[in-house]
Amino acid sequence: MDFGTFNFHPRIVDGIRRLGYDKPTPIQEEAIGPALEGRDLMGLAETGTGKTAAFVLPMSNRLMDGPRGRIRALVLAPTRELAQQTHEVFTIVGKDTKLRSVTIYGGVGYEPQIRKLKSGVEFVVACPGRLLDLVERGEVDLRHVEVVVLDEADRMLDMGFLPDIRRILKLLPRERQTMLFTATMPPDIERLARDFMRKPVVIQVGRQGPVSGITHELYPVAPHLKGSLLVELLKRRETGPVLVFTRTKHAASRLAERLQRNGFRSACLQGDMSQSKRQAAMDGFRSGKIDILVATDIAARGIDVPDISHVVNYDMPDTVDAYTHRVGRTARASRTGSAINIATRDDVDVVNGVESLLNTRLECLRIDGFDYDAPMVRDTGPRLSRGRSERSGPPRRQRTERRSGVRTGA
Ligand code: AMP
Repeated sequence: MDFGTFNFHPRIVDGIRRLGYDKPTPIQEEAIGPALEGRDLMGLAETGTGKTAAFVLPMSNRLMDGPRGRIRALVLAPTRELAQQTHEVFTIVGKDTKLRSVTIYGGVGYEPQIRKLKSGVEFVVACPGRLLDLVERGEVDLRHVEVVVLDEADRMLDMGFLPDIRRILKLLPRERQTMLFTATMPPDIERLARDFMRKPVVIQVGRQGPVSGITHELYPVAPHLKGSLLVELLKRRETGPVLVFTRTKHAASRLAERLQRNGFRSACLQGDMSQSKRQAAMDGFRSGKIDILVATDIAARGIDVPDISHVVNYDMPDTVDAYTHRVGRTARASRTGSAINIATRDDVDVVNGVESLLNTRLECLRIDGFDYDAPMVRDTGPRLSRGRSERSGPPRRQRTERRSGVRTGA
């Protein structure tokens, strides 16, 4: 199948060309037809499957006809990064359409968003909290919304946005198209769909679980050695962009600093940072100035860097769903990638869960020459002043880890 099947407006066809997409991904093949017909749609899609274009393209096509200068399409997204990325896809597609869009999210000033809204936009991508805020201030008129998308609905649920989402949906016209995308289907999302959607077409792409093409590796280690193990692993590997997950914001900052001290070009991305710092970290990672981004789950949500080669669970996630979300950041759009899991004894349950999800037992790997019995030493290394490094020369690149098959060492 190719995009020609959908009879998109010529301007949208130009937009698809600008995006560089040759043919639709499976979710696009299945979703675009019903979406263009105006059907409600529920997309159970693994992350990285191309779901953004699956809704942005039909929405843009719809906006080509009909009135301009009022909000006709709304996307609700869990994080600013995801909102920004959807906005970017819309901007590329809509370059020659004179359609206008705005992103609405917290952590930045109200004024530019209000100005943009006043100037007349057709497409809004918003995080629920700030959108409601602006609704309450009388700055957003949602009475003309024809189509709404709930993107990464399960994540919005995790983040406590469900009441806000319900409030927003109640403000929209009853006659509208509703699309919902989610990687998992917890009962609250089912209920939301029942309450706010009309006979949705349900599309499920792939099985529920991490995308294929990912190698999952397990490195058991004592908690105090996680940092040195990661440094050692990274030194020995040839990698592309690496995304590392920590449980807390503090751990993300500390680990990024530690990696810097060891000569890696790393940065952190976490919720306490200002929007401009977050943007700088994201831009650095996207452009290749930064090789390793250390992030918390929420900050990393929706990161779309197509060629992330390794996702590292420095702290294992609490749930198997979170694992799916994290590792979905690699192997995007059918590429391959690795998930490296640094696990301690406390992670036994989630490791077991991941193994049943993958339907395989993960072999325990050990790094040759790594001192697994090293005593605890406090990480008190000096902050790096420019140009200094704890390590001289570039990271070693040879792969020397060996498979042990023994479930010990954690
Ligand atoms: P998404 O799941 O929307 O975050 O998309 C994941 C990645 O797939 C992004 O880097 C997109 O640019 C890319 N992508 C989406 N659709 C296509 C397509 N039809 N052909 C090639 N790449 C695509």
